[in-house]
Amino acid sequence: MESLPDAKSVPGVECDVDLRPYNSFGLPARARRLVRIRSDADLRWVVNHPDWGRAAKFILGGGSNLVLTQDLKPLVLKVEVPGRRLLDAGDDWIVEAGAGERWHELVLWALEQGVAGLENLALIPGTVGAAPVQNIGAYGLELKDRFDSLETLDLMSGRLVTLGKEACHFGYRDSVFKQHLAGRSVILRVRLRLPKRWRPELDYLDLHRAREASGISDPTPRQIADWVIAIRRAKLPDPAEVGNAGSFFKNPIVSEAVCREVIARDPHLVHYPLDDGRFKLAAGWLIDACGWKGKSVGGASVHEKQALVLINKREARGAEVLTLAQAIQASVFARFGIRLEPEPVVV
Ligand SMILES: Cc1cc2nc3c(=O)[nH]c(=O)nc-3n(C[C@H](O)[C@H](O)[C@H](O)COP(=O)(O)OP(=O)(O)OC[C@H]3O[C@@H](n4cnc5c(N)ncnc54)[C@H](O)[C@@H]3O)c2cc1C
Repeated sequence: MESLPDAKSVPGVECDVDLRPYNSFGLPARARRLVRIRSDADLRWVVNHPDWGRAAKFILGGGSNLVLTQDLKPLVLKVEVPGRRLLDAGDDWIVEAGAGERWHELVLWALEQGVAGLENLALIPGTVGAAPVQNIGAYGLELKDRFDSLETLDLMSGRLVTLGKEACHFGYRDSVFKQHLAGRSVILRVRLRLPKRWRPELDYLDLHRAREASGISDPTPRQIADWVIAIRRAKLPDPAEVGNAGSFFKNPIVSEAVCREVIARDPHLVHYPLDDGRFKLAAGWLIDACGWKGKSVGGASVHEKQALVLINKREARGAEVLTLAQAIQASVFARFGIRLEPEPVVV
């Protein structure tokens, strides 16, 4: 890093930037250098720059899936590429959006255009560009179910490539961008494919209940979005009021044998069968069973109502969030023999 140019002499590169407003946990950290990427040309400028091109980089979207435990020494690329458009592709609509667009605003915009299919993913914070990184999912739907392709620029080669679904290797809260392309491939644009023949996805228990309670048998896409928004507001703390990164741990996926073993000891275990014969366990239930609700380490706490969510209760530092998370992992492992994997990216 010492060989980097004097940022003050380079247009567009900001120095010593406070990252507190740029991470939903509100954790204190600073970026030594930050550049806003608003177009392909901005990114090419960085990649082709004699010094910045070689420097280590960190890609930042909306900061809603991050735990910042230290100041960031790499050059922070804050992705702010704008733009939305709707393309007619015969039986489907294609919604194309710049990576810097807010995901939730894109969902609402698509609905306003009369284009349905994203409503179950309403109110997920963050940017469009980060959505494929962990294959965002909620209420019975994942990004991969509506994904067409994306454009990404490889920071090593400087090449702009289009990747389809296969190449992204989507999994549960996972993709190639969390694996071998982690940190080296900047997503600039995402295309979603939404069938014109819309079918509501209402299998998820909470949505099923919302429909029953409303008495509406044939909900519109906007109605489903409103249910999702209301359920999420009731369950999850708003990061604008209490810092958090949503679910802190992935729901562990285990074999049938392991699932049966845990049920034999804890018959109330919340678990869901998967198509491949394995079972998804509710991480929040495991944490709650170990008595973690409301417990704290320094300013970091486990949410009083939702054990899966860690919050910044009182000027927490990233290290305190991490210590709390590790203590939870250790106690869940000691009691159930199950390893919880964090969902947010720890830096
Ligand atoms: C209250 C709350 C609720 C949430 N609910 C859900 C939920 O229901 N389902 C769910 O899946 N997630 C949920 N999340 C997590 C989060 O919203 C998503 O993971 C979101 O996609 C993160 O977007 P971001 O722009 O904030 O990414 P960031 O936090 O900025 O970055 C996350 C990762 O993606 C990388 N990245 C970011 N942008 C790009 C890019 N353009 N190109 C390449 N890499 C990039 C970063 O380097 C980092 O590794 C929730 C978070 C909060 C705070």
